Amino acid sequence: MGLSVAQKIIKQHLVKGDLIPGKEIAIRIDQTLTQDSTGTMAYLQFEAMGIDRVKTKLSVAYIDHNTLQTGPENADDHLYIQTVAKKHGIYFSKPGNGICHQVHLERFAVPGQTLLGSDSHTPTAGGIGMLAIGAGGLDVAVAMGGGEYYLTMPKIVKVNLKGRLQPWVSAKDVILELLRRLTVKGGVGKIFEYTGEGVKTLSVPERATITNMGAELGATTSIFPSDQVTYEFLKAQGREADFVEILPDPDAVYDEEIEIDLSSLVPLAACPHSPDNVVPVAELKNIRVDQVAIGSCTNSSFKDLMKVAKILEGKTVAEHVSLVISPGSKQVLNMLAQNGALASLVSAGARILECACGPCIGMGQAPRTNGISLRTFNRNFEGRSGTPSAKVYLVSPETAAASAITGYITDPRTLGDEPQVEMPKSFLINDNLIVPPAEKPDEVEVIRGPNIKPFPQGKPLPEVVVGKVLVKLGDNITTDHIMPSNAKLLPYRSNIPYLSDYCLTPCDPDFPKKARENGGGFIVGGINYGQGSSREHAALVPLYLGVKGVLAKSFARIHMANLINNGIIPMVFENPDDYDTIEEMDELKIENAREQIEKNDVLIIENVTKGLKYRMVLNLTERQRKMILHGGLLNLTKAQGKN
Ligand code: SF4
Repeated sequence: MGLSVAQKIIKQHLVKGDLIPGKEIAIRIDQTLTQDSTGTMAYLQFEAMGIDRVKTKLSVAYIDHNTLQTGPENADDHLYIQTVAKKHGIYFSKPGNGICHQVHLERFAVPGQTLLGSDSHTPTAGGIGMLAIGAGGLDVAVAMGGGEYYLTMPKIVKVNLKGRLQPWVSAKDVILELLRRLTVKGGVGKIFEYTGEGVKTLSVPERATITNMGAELGATTSIFPSDQVTYEFLKAQGREADFVEILPDPDAVYDEEIEIDLSSLVPLAACPHSPDNVVPVAELKNIRVDQVAIGSCTNSSFKDLMKVAKILEGKTVAEHVSLVISPGSKQVLNMLAQNGALASLVSAGARILECACGPCIGMGQAPRTNGISLRTFNRNFEGRSGTPSAKVYLVSPETAAASAITGYITDPRTLGDEPQVEMPKSFLINDNLIVPPAEKPDEVEVIRGPNIKPFPQGKPLPEVVVGKVLVKLGDNITTDHIMPSNAKLLPYRSNIPYLSDYCLTPCDPDFPKKARENGGGFIVGGINYGQGSSREHAALVPLYLGVKGVLAKSFARIHMANLINNGIIPMVFENPDDYDTIEEMDELKIENAREQIEKNDVLIIENVTKGLKYRMVLNLTERQRKMILHGGLLNLTKAQGKN
């Protein structure tokens, strides 16, 4: 039986399991990437493993998220990451070098290899034929230490691209069309693999725009074949030696199939407040725009910004519009500066920001109250822009540029002939903002400013676990409730003691105090506890406060994995009515905890205060049981001698 591109790469990297969807597999990781927001914790965890040098083929630490320096915290984090990277064999991409996914695509991504990144848009590198997956910082730390990455074998969805995009229609419209059809839940547990005659009409950056926003479908990753177009991109980056052809076998078998006729697509927009709320741009034409933001890891490539420059050439941004542009990388900005396109942007009235995530992560450029913002980004959740009342529309660079000129949401097809932009035969290569690892690591001192604090580590599970119910929560508690993340708290991601003062405070302002006074304890939750994001801090901070277990009616999958990674026991009520009998400050007790976790699928926990016993379901794999017994993934990895 033939294999698809994704199946071929997985098979080559398979350490455990088979290519059977729904079953757990483990794969070897060739490359890792981190960004600063998740990176500090990942490197603290890597250091805790006691490994001298990374064991991957390549690891890169990027600074692109928290580049505003209104206090010393971000600068402290950057210096810590720079020095820890230098010491342990990791390349360091300095602030200003660009957004991790754009730079990785340009300078490091290799077809056929695996990439694990502590950022959800890591699948961007699927545009070059890499199997690229976003994961928690701890998973990335383990991969840097040579550990395999565990995941559920996804279903492979064949996305058959027919035809060719019409003028003014772009790669962004392809992925918006998929989001329109499948919604933000449509990709869960799946890899989207693009095939068909339409593939060769798309450049690598265009492919990367599509794989980038596969994350919004909830997909494990997305991937394009590595073909002649890939070769030409790598050659233009001076990296033809990294090329390897990877095509699907003609008789490859897929689990599902979707067809998109590229020639039938029109410019699309995702309306507030979800990336799948997609309609044709033409239907939005009289909406007045306050801000246009062009950039992000979705649409900030050289070709994207050249197109914008040509549309803006000789024009002026509408009086009531603020146009901000963040180039994806120093390479892109440098080339725009050299060929004069930057002058077109500036003279049209664009405000040029640094090469970083910027407005996409709420670091500046919040729109006005009730403002309408058009963005080429990948997310438009309520409040993400920094202005709770703002309405954000996600569009292509073409639609964004056209609307910046007219001041209203504008279908770019109304502008007449589309300016043509070719992919360059050679990119401007200057890696002087990438610091290589030290040749003599012993001579490097890791510098920890006051914002770098040790992180909590789980302890091996004792025979008897006792503690009070610290809080009883309702249904659908999000990771934002558990560990709020906002512009004020973001700089403290490597400072768990500081963050712990905010743990669960949106639900119970006294939770941190109660946890401290009682030496930790248990959390009781309702349905879908921990929904929202992969935020590891939503497990790390409770661990720091001494939380030993969470009893809930059900868990969100990723948060449950994060609890286990940190040695906190997730337990599901076998009888949901038992939830009603528990009250705050009840004392709970698990006898024979080690044996129960090791052997049983149902754990008995006693409510000492009420004289009741509850049957709690443990949905744990063999490996997850070991993690809890050892007090988390780090301890297990150390015990298994990965170092
Ligand atoms: Fe995340 Fe936005 Fe940065 Fe992309 S540009 S990595 S989506 S913050």
